[in-house]
Amino acid sequence: MKTPKHRYIPYGRQFIEEDDIQAVVDVLKSDYLTTGPAVRNFEKKIADYLGVKYAVAFSNGTAALHGACFAAGIKEGDEVITTPMTFAASANCILYQGGRPTFADIDPKTYNIDPNEIRKKINSKTKAIIPVDFTGQPVKLDEIMTIAHENNLIVIEDAAHAIGATYKNRKIGSIADMTMFSFHPVKHITTGEGGIITTNNKIFYDKLLQFRSHGITRDISLLSDNHGPWYYEMQFLGYNYRMSDIQAALGCSQIDKLNAFITRRKEIVKQYNQVLEDINEIQTPFQDSNGVSSWHLYVIKLNKDLLVIDRKQFFEELHYANIGVNVHYIPVHLQPYYQKLGYNRGDYPIAEDLYENIITLPLFPTMTNEEVRYVLETVVNLVNKYKTR
Ligand SMILES: *Cc1c(COP(=O)(O)O)cnc(C)c1O
Repeated sequence: MKTPKHRYIPYGRQFIEEDDIQAVVDVLKSDYLTTGPAVRNFEKKIADYLGVKYAVAFSNGTAALHGACFAAGIKEGDEVITTPMTFAASANCILYQGGRPTFADIDPKTYNIDPNEIRKKINSKTKAIIPVDFTGQPVKLDEIMTIAHENNLIVIEDAAHAIGATYKNRKIGSIADMTMFSFHPVKHITTGEGGIITTNNKIFYDKLLQFRSHGITRDISLLSDNHGPWYYEMQFLGYNYRMSDIQAALGCSQIDKLNAFITRRKEIVKQYNQVLEDINEIQTPFQDSNGVSSWHLYVIKLNKDLLVIDRKQFFEELHYANIGVNVHYIPVHLQPYYQKLGYNRGDYPIAEDLYENIITLPLFPTMTNEEVRYVLETVVNLVNKYKTR
């Protein structure tokens, strides 16, 4: 008789409780549905949590990255350096502003952008760097900020994976010129859809606020004219990228739980490491001692020389066992759209090689110990079944 399958375990999912739901219901009964007191409260809570002066909420993380590229002054003819091992949005935001993404290959140990590769890509057109804290592990921020200062570049950190992470005991979100967090449901805390930029720079802050609302201002000190109390001015082409109070209310409720969520993620990681670190066929995630990851993703790398099946077969076996593993990421420059823009396969060999061998195991705060054990048992069984010797 065949053993019944375990119930499906996704790679990530949100954790919504009754008080989160109540917070949203309260807003629905209030006067404001869109950008109002809940958005301001959410921005303040995020800024206070990170110890940063300003936070500007956006309708999603991608819009927030677009806003940051605008505030950084990225325009046609400019180049911005980012990693190929990321979600497309990290590079697309450069294209939105008419700039050209330049990729810098990753460090084979941390899988994060390699500062030495960044240096090689800088030229007179380079205006900014968008490093990504892949899986929640902080990039080498001291090196990257130094490179930026030496070359007069702006650093926009894509920390979609890294809220709650620290670098040399400083919170991610308080170090780069601007930092983006995403509140998509698979991320640490959610607003359904949502994103935010944090900064200590008042000029960036003002630009971000105006950009997310059509380029319109009502600030009397900024107006070039004034027809009366109704008067406002659209001073540049912005977008409607506002977060609603409905989303922000959920965010305010979720931020109070962030530390508990991260603690649970770390417990699961510890259980994964304890078993998987002893298995030669699998490489567990290396952690740089300068940073503390907030553990958005747990990515294993298969040692293909020690297995008779490849990543695709391993992936399919896990899905067959109802384990919703994923692959993060298909390198951005390999996407058909980027290939048409002239980026070539073979240009970022470390990222490309990594992509061929990685699998993201499930990791989310409501994952039970029983589910963790089931994932481990399944992975270990697969390794024993398919190892070369
Ligand atoms: C999720 C994510 C984004 C985009 O965030 P959205 O809120 O989904 O728009 C950008 N970069 C990375 C690395 C992400 O994981």
